Amino acid sequence: MMINCKQVEMLLSFYIDGDLNYVLRKKIRDHLESCESCKNKHDMLLHFYDDMEKSYQNLSVISQESFNQTQEQYKFFKKNLSAYLDNELPLEETVKMKKYTINNKNAKKELENSYRLKELLKACFDKTKNKIKEDFSEKVLAEINTSKKLNRIDFYLKTMAAIILICVGAITLITIMMCI
Ligand SMILES: [Zn+2]
Repeated sequence: MMINCKQVEMLLSFYIDGDLNYVLRKKIRDHLESCESCKNKHDMLLHFYDDMEKSYQNLSVISQESFNQTQEQYKFFKKNLSAYLDNELPLEETVKMKKYTINNKNAKKELENSYRLKELLKACFDKTKNKIKEDFSEKVLAEINTSKKLNRIDFYLKTMAAIILICVGAITLITIMMCI
């Protein structure tokens, strides 16, 4: 049994993909050899598939390349972020970082967040430092006050002792003089 043009047309893509059994493949091959119209359709479809395959491959190569490049740049960005925030990068790297963050929205956002975090940490640190300073001065002040108080008590005690001594001395003197 021969197959007609319409049947061939329907089976062409399967034929090109090699999805048909031997009998059908042979029937189509024979038909293509004798029918120019179907042969043209077959060639066109083959080219179309070929182009599609090539474009797809090109596309994946391009996206892979740009992905790799982006990955490298991102690694560079992450590695230098902290030094960049602290202004510790050499000029060349600083320029690279600036360019990258200007052209890359996510990097810009990450940079801003890191800045904010750094400021927050610094504020926290300053607060703690000030608190420690305050605590320390309070402690020193308290100590000074205590020692002042102690000094005052010391002074009173010494004065009292002196007065008592003078009194005792005077009494002794008077007693001795009366006895004489
Ligand atoms: Zn045909």
